[in-house]
Order: sequence, then C-alpha cells, then structure tokens
Amino acid sequence: MTHLVMHVDLDAFYAAIEQHDHPDWRGLPVVVGAEPGKRGVVATCSYEARRYGVHSAMPISEASRRPPPETVYVRPRMDDYARISRQVMEALETISPVVEKVSADEAYLDISGLEGLVGPPQGHRPACESGDPRGGGAYRLGRYRTEPAHCQARVRLS
Ligand SMILES: [Mg+2]
Repeated sequence: MTHLVMHVDLDAFYAAIEQHDHPDWRGLPVVVGAEPGKRGVVATCSYEARRYGVHSAMPISEASRRPPPETVYVRPRMDDYARISRQVMEALETISPVVEKVSADEAYLDISGLEGLVGPPQGHRPACESGDPRGGGAYRLGRYRTEPAHCQARVRLS
C-alpha cells in the first residue's frame, strides 16, 4: 500500500474567520493583530492585504502605512479561533484516525488507504516519480466539509 501523508494548511486562518463572520469585510484588506498606533505585530492578514506587502509578524506600525484606507484592522479573537480550529481538527479526524496537529491551522494526516474509500488522488505523483521530494497533486476532498465553512485549505501530499 502506498504511504500517503496529507498536509493541510488553512488559508489566512484568522482573517478568513473575520471575513466569514463579517460579510461586509469580504474583498477588503483585513489585518488581524495589534492596534495601529500601538506596539505589536500583524498576526494574520487577508490576501487582499498581502497584495500591499502586509504579512504575518510585520510590525503594525509598518503594516498600517501600506494598505488603502478601507483596510479593516481587528484585534484577534483567540477563543473563537481556537473553537473553529477544534471544529476543523475534528472534521479532519473524520478523514483519518491519524491526525497530527501542528498549529491552530495546520495538520498532517496519514491518509494511506483512503483511496480505497474515495478513489485515487487527482494528479498525484509519488515523490520518487515526480522528482520533487514533496510529491505533488491534490486529493478530492469535496465530500469533506466543515460547517460552517469558515475557510479554505491548501493540501499537499507526500
Ligand atoms: Mg495557514
């Protein structure tokens, strides 16, 4: 049996939750972190903010000089993010009994044998075949959804 490990990394996790819970913020640069004008850093920002060069761990003083005026700056709601992270991890545990959580928005799953249930990964090439030690391809995960659907994830197989 092919040994398959899936790496799941949720996209802009905190910012995705904020945009989910505040629909009027969708499409806007959203920066989750310290308050502008005070000391501290960016925890996470939306892809709309990243287009202006904002990134995690950037001092808020620098981040607040970059994006346009409609940017939403929001303090982290760690209790809510932790709750949603638990929901996501519980959803991942319905895919595989072997889930190794790395952080609130990142986990590795041993999905060896999963193809017996949902078919082969689409476009997957084993690492030895692709020449890329990380392998490649995507697994069809359309049947696995968390409710409410707060965010999207990047998935990589190896
Ligand atoms: Mg992430």
